[in-house]
Amino acid sequence: MADRIKRFLIIGAHPDDADIRFGGSAVKLARAGHIVKFVSMCNGDCGHFSMTREALRDRRYLETQASKAVSGIEEYQVFAEHHDCELEASVEIRKKVISLIRNFNPDVVLSHRLCDYHADHRATAQLVQDAAYLTQVPLFCPDAPVPAVNPVFGCVFDAFTDPRPFRHDAAIIVDDVMDEKCQMLDCHVSQVYEWLAYEHTGTPVDPGKMSWEEKKEYLIANWGARYVNAANAARETLVATYGEAGKKAVYAETFELSPYGRKISIEEFRQLMQP
Ligand SMILES: [Zn+2]
Repeated sequence: MADRIKRFLIIGAHPDDADIRFGGSAVKLARAGHIVKFVSMCNGDCGHFSMTREALRDRRYLETQASKAVSGIEEYQVFAEHHDCELEASVEIRKKVISLIRNFNPDVVLSHRLCDYHADHRATAQLVQDAAYLTQVPLFCPDAPVPAVNPVFGCVFDAFTDPRPFRHDAAIIVDDVMDEKCQMLDCHVSQVYEWLAYEHTGTPVDPGKMSWEEKKEYLIANWGARYVNAANAARETLVATYGEAGKKAVYAETFELSPYGRKISIEEFRQLMQP
């Protein structure tokens, strides 16, 4: 068990973003006794090709709760009132994000970067970046208690290069939890087997006909490269953090420190992100 229990808040745009970018880390941190909360700013009601939006919203909520159960995270909150593809960095939603952060009182808040392909990811990134300073302003949202210490803010890995590539300031090896990470992805049937398979290949996959080994093979084949690329790009950080094990790591989840929250050094950030 960890000496000090740390609190991690991962704010994604959709009900699978946190799993995709932080699932393995969440399993390791939760196992070490830390508290991890996932949030989806949107209700997921556009990620399909044939379901009604209401049925999809309800189905995706259940998928988040299944993923919560297999991962050991504390909570998976979904903002049911925010439709997919319509999220805006409005003052109204800024207040919700400030309250969310203050009430959870995290050590670390992670979200998307501003340079993302999806409008909801960009809006989420903007909302969280805006909160990084305003969390400390007591007259804004006075009903939510201002934390004694401002959280550290950061971003989860992406492969976008414009205006600049992601900086791998901290990294967590996830080789030893790929089974659990795949189990989390496997909960999001409407996405990993249906919508995203349909979007990429034109044909959804039926996991009902697959054994767990086949499903894991499918998930690694379709999602594994993301974490292999992250590990390769973050090799220096992995070696600095893990020594010899960092040289051999195949899969990693990586994080960029934001300058807008509590200011810490890269070394402190690496320490903070370790289980
Ligand atoms: Zn998303």
